[in-house]
Amino acid sequence: MTPNTPTGAGAPAGRPAATPGSAHSARTTTAITHISTLVTNDPSLGEGPLGLIQDAALVIDGDRIAWVGVTSKAPATDSHLDAAGQAVIPGFVDSHSHLVFAGDRTAEFSARMSGRPYTAGGIRTTVAATRAASDEQLEANLLRYLREAARQGTTTLETKSGYGLTPHDEARALRVAAAHTEETTFLGAHIVAPEFADDPAGYVDLVTGPMLDACAPYARWVDVFCEKGAFDRDQAHAILSAGKARGLTPRVHANQLTYGPGVQLAVELDAASADHCTHLTDADVDALASGDTVATLLPGAEFSTRAKWPDARRLLDAGATVALSTDCNPGSSFTSSMPFCIALAVRDMGMTPDEAVWAATAGGARALRRDDVGYLRPGSRADLALLDAPSPVHLAYRPGVPLVTAVWRGGQRV
Ligand SMILES: [Zn+2]
Repeated sequence: MTPNTPTGAGAPAGRPAATPGSAHSARTTTAITHISTLVTNDPSLGEGPLGLIQDAALVIDGDRIAWVGVTSKAPATDSHLDAAGQAVIPGFVDSHSHLVFAGDRTAEFSARMSGRPYTAGGIRTTVAATRAASDEQLEANLLRYLREAARQGTTTLETKSGYGLTPHDEARALRVAAAHTEETTFLGAHIVAPEFADDPAGYVDLVTGPMLDACAPYARWVDVFCEKGAFDRDQAHAILSAGKARGLTPRVHANQLTYGPGVQLAVELDAASADHCTHLTDADVDALASGDTVATLLPGAEFSTRAKWPDARRLLDAGATVALSTDCNPGSSFTSSMPFCIALAVRDMGMTPDEAVWAATAGGARALRRDDVGYLRPGSRADLALLDAPSPVHLAYRPGVPLVTAVWRGGQRV
């Protein structure tokens, strides 16, 4: 793990032990004080659903949060940082990205912005470039975007395979990703591999057989692009079930381009997340509201394909849990910026600023079935971002402005 990239939990939670007989412990405590507004995401610790504390402080002990409260009551620590009126939020949890790839699709974006519609077929361009790239090229590209995300406040980042589409290329994508995040997703079922264009059933057999065998050791999750032009309900069911049998937990690309079976399938299989959720029937909304499957909305995709926005308000009013994520990928959403997604969600998807901040932090954690990240409360991982703003509302109020001034991950400044 490199020190300046967002990861999953990564290293074990334990702190380095003090050297026996040493006068000094390796464990150090750091206080951050005079925080204008601290977002804890724990309503028992502060005001409203975000658990806001004004003129706040927090204490980092090793890789964990040890204490939060008002500055006047902060305990003594080994070191100290004065936030001087900046806001502090939990580091963003970006629960959906596609960052193991090579190649460039600038021309496709430009053409689309000139009127051509988005289809799943553009993925083939990236598949060809990714297969042709070396492991070193793929890793260098991944690290570039992980650093870019970290600079914008992301401290946990899921990423997927899906541009290899052979057992060898999918496994190496996941091996490269797993060196930098534990939130890795097997997406062999991104599209039917070009060699299987006339034999989609044969491709499903490959995905559920040798490809899954090669990939399962490097993946936590299994995902399918359940969409016209990609995989239908029965194919998606077979692939997600095979992944489940190998210990992977499902998540689904669902209902992005058209109404379809993806959301219902995700809920039926107890997927952690149904992602996109742009075209939903009332029954789809009810299913998401009644199950444990998070509705992960990816406004960068709608922005970059000039498509209809997902209706976050409808999902929230029905009682569904909503996460926001970037879907960062070279085709349909080439942004790594969670603040940008927050701004879009507030402007165009009916979310309040507070709801969007929660969805980009605790919501993302929920979509990854984590409770150690996405919160700033005693025991949480010390993953946080300082904002050059008095309030997290500025993430939506000041769109496009780089407000993140410092990021800490696992108690270390990155
Ligand atoms: Zn995606």
